[in-house]
Amino acid sequence: MDLRQWAHFTGGSAGATNLTCPKCKKRIDTLAFTVHDPSAIQAEERFTCPNCSFAFWPENALLLTLLELDGNSYFGFPFSLGGNEARNYTSIEVGKTREYNVDTLAEGYTVETITLKGAHRKDIPKSDWLPLEPLNNPFRRAMLGESVSISLAKNTSKTVSVSTNLVENPEHGINLGDEIEILYDATTSQNQSFDPPWILLLQEATFAIRRDNTVTALPLLISSFDNLLFRQLYLLLRDRGLNQEESVNKLQSFKQWKFLKRDDLAKDALDFAVGERLSDGRYAEEWAEFKQLVNTRSEIIHPTNSSSLNRPDRDEVIEQFNKIIRTMLCVFDLCWRY
Ligand SMILES: [Zn+2]
Repeated sequence: MDLRQWAHFTGGSAGATNLTCPKCKKRIDTLAFTVHDPSAIQAEERFTCPNCSFAFWPENALLLTLLELDGNSYFGFPFSLGGNEARNYTSIEVGKTREYNVDTLAEGYTVETITLKGAHRKDIPKSDWLPLEPLNNPFRRAMLGESVSISLAKNTSKTVSVSTNLVENPEHGINLGDEIEILYDATTSQNQSFDPPWILLLQEATFAIRRDNTVTALPLLISSFDNLLFRQLYLLLRDRGLNQEESVNKLQSFKQWKFLKRDDLAKDALDFAVGERLSDGRYAEEWAEFKQLVNTRSEIIHPTNSSSLNRPDRDEVIEQFNKIIRTMLCVFDLCWRY
């Protein structure tokens, strides 16, 4: 597994959040929350852009930021309304364990995940840096030049601990006390934000994948998609003047059976709202791929073969994660014309 496999979401500036204003296309700054109004970001309230005063649904601004990323790099994105990600640098002597404040953490923010991105001996030219091989938890542990094991841990909501250990018979002349520079990315969330269910489910899927609990990730991802589909249509109806209750009732009116189903929304409800279905329109191919993932998920929950439970590997689940987000962005594109 390559340590550089996961996206580095660059905020554009150190203080930029993961929200892009749909009108002026500017990234909203963390200061918009920390200085002006810490409770400004709520899933059920439109957020007013500090630059152009356009009022928009926060989750649409998050989807707009995702649209700018490469389609294979959504895993690792800070999934929380108003969250961000930044690269941190620190240094530590070989053999030591230390706790550090996460330097890039803004006021009113909490660290969600940390990911090791690089390590090398201080004052050594780049051409002589030793290889960094991921260990069993590749997001937080790695071995530098087969000589120094490095591990990171999130200690509190604001601090991270870093430890380095020297193996017996180290190579490359590395000694106890040598200084190691460490790079890691920290994703953060806004303390007061209230995320919709699809984002909370994506957070849980992210944690499951990071813990190597690969069986639970896909059911979480499919549920996340289902909620995203509902909420995109719901927000569209809200924008057209319906209140919360009217929007929900309208969507419920598309149910063909006892409960509202994914297909009711992907076909009739979308056709009603935007004149195009997910199943046989521009995105029919993405929809067919998504349906394959639904089948894979069904094999986990309702197996047809008693020996069918296989544990997918992490890279496979990360690909599923990216594919689900790509299908979500198809829904977003059908619903909104920003
Ligand atoms: Zn704006």
